[in-house]
Amino acid sequence: MSKGLKIFLASPRGFCAGVDRAIEIVEKALKKFGSPVYVRHEIVHNKYVVDNLKKKGAIFVEELHEIKDNSRPVVFSAHGVPKSVPKEAENKKMFYVDATCPLVTKVHRETERNNKNGYQIILIGHKGHPEVVGTMGQIPKENITLVETAEDAKNIKNENFNKPVAYVTQTTLSVDDTKEIIEILKKKFPNIKSPIKEDICYATTNRQNAVKHIAPLCEMFFVIGSENSSNSKRLVEVAKKAGCSKSQLINFDKRLPLDQIIKCNRIGLTSGASAPESLVQDFISEIKKHCDVSIEEFVTARENVTFKLPKSLN
Ligand code: SF4
Repeated sequence: MSKGLKIFLASPRGFCAGVDRAIEIVEKALKKFGSPVYVRHEIVHNKYVVDNLKKKGAIFVEELHEIKDNSRPVVFSAHGVPKSVPKEAENKKMFYVDATCPLVTKVHRETERNNKNGYQIILIGHKGHPEVVGTMGQIPKENITLVETAEDAKNIKNENFNKPVAYVTQTTLSVDDTKEIIEILKKKFPNIKSPIKEDICYATTNRQNAVKHIAPLCEMFFVIGSENSSNSKRLVEVAKKAGCSKSQLINFDKRLPLDQIIKCNRIGLTSGASAPESLVQDFISEIKKHCDVSIEEFVTARENVTFKLPKSLN
């Protein structure tokens, strides 16, 4: 008889409404227009998803100038793009479909509106992440300042802000770290304008909450997701902060640390918003080959969010 192992499974986990929509957009575009369909940047940050779409005829590029045939459609990824990208596509007379998550678009519009109303914007986010590049690219760069950490927020000089200040955030940040940064900003700029509705999205918040409940009960914690997935990496940090120091990201092509797993009695498992459920089930099946697994699912929220597809795909 093999050793018993309990897996605490987080719920909600995995695909969010924005990821579902983005993947469906590429699939529908392939169906409607045939292949190839170009996709600017990984449609969502998951290699497994990207590889599958490649097999169906999608070609991934980082910039529009890499596209060899401008008569083919191009899809912009779920992370959003700077305004210069649709403009470039229009100049080149390219047909594009924008798969930016509507919750990222909300942050774009908010940033634009605040800029139009005379605010200097502070964006809380991670430098270089495509969502941050996209949000910063909605307005002239001198009107937006990036803050990555609490330290950055402390170092901001009030005298450099000679107009009212508003903040927006990336959608996939750590809820707790962001709260700390916002508190610092509020002390510096007592009249700082907050977003009307929280920018960190429902999916990020729900997945982090579920992990917080489970991680303290676990000897090891696994987050299925890719290295470049912001929300997946945040889940690892949240699990560590909640008390499970042995928390790690697992890519679908990474070998599982089975020698360590089989020494545990209880492990935790979740997946980032861009990781398909099949990878979670593969992980469980692999462990079942070595342990007598029992699964307890922790449901901390129910999700029923869906987003409409762009009309051009009807
Ligand atoms: S994580 Fe949130 S913002 Fe990002 S695609 Fe999903 S729902 Fe949209």
